[in-house]
Amino acid sequence: MFRSMFNAFANLFRPVRTHPYPAEPMPLPTAWRGLIEYNEEACIFCDKCEKACPPKSIRFFQHEDGRKEYRYNAWLCIYCGECVRACPKPEEALWQSETKARPAVKADNVNGGWFDWEAECAQSRDDYAAAKKAARAAKKNEGA
Ligand code: SF4
Ligand code: SF4
Repeated sequence: MFRSMFNAFANLFRPVRTHPYPAEPMPLPTAWRGLIEYNEEACIFCDKCEKACPPKSIRFFQHEDGRKEYRYNAWLCIYCGECVRACPKPEEALWQSETKARPAVKADNVNGGWFDWEAECAQSRDDYAAAKKAARAAKKNEGA
């Protein structure tokens, strides 16, 4: 009894061991995995993130003028961080944010739209590669 009274009294002067939430926001765990954030300005369009992504939730659309466009599906993403690890410019072009993974409201038919987009991306690349090949062949014929 004396012991517990002593401990109760001593605890009044010991440092607080719990976190005073919500007065202070909770620190993020070290293994926290948030949404994937992308910065087009820093991206060098090497496609490494796209190749590294297991569920293929990153896709680049190839424009005719050579420009590439980044697309990311947050509902397909498994937040593994492989894209960030593969990126030659982590924290600048690609990083995992402090935003909690998976937005609360899921848009209707998001994956249906995504799979259409995926097919368009693949088609855009094939078209671009075919156009480049044709241009090379035309140049070669001009030189011959
Ligand atoms: S975190 Fe994983 S699943 Fe999500 S985009 Fe990156 S590589 Fe793909
Ligand atoms: S890996 Fe990084 S630099 Fe390369 S395309 Fe992806 S975001 Fe851009």
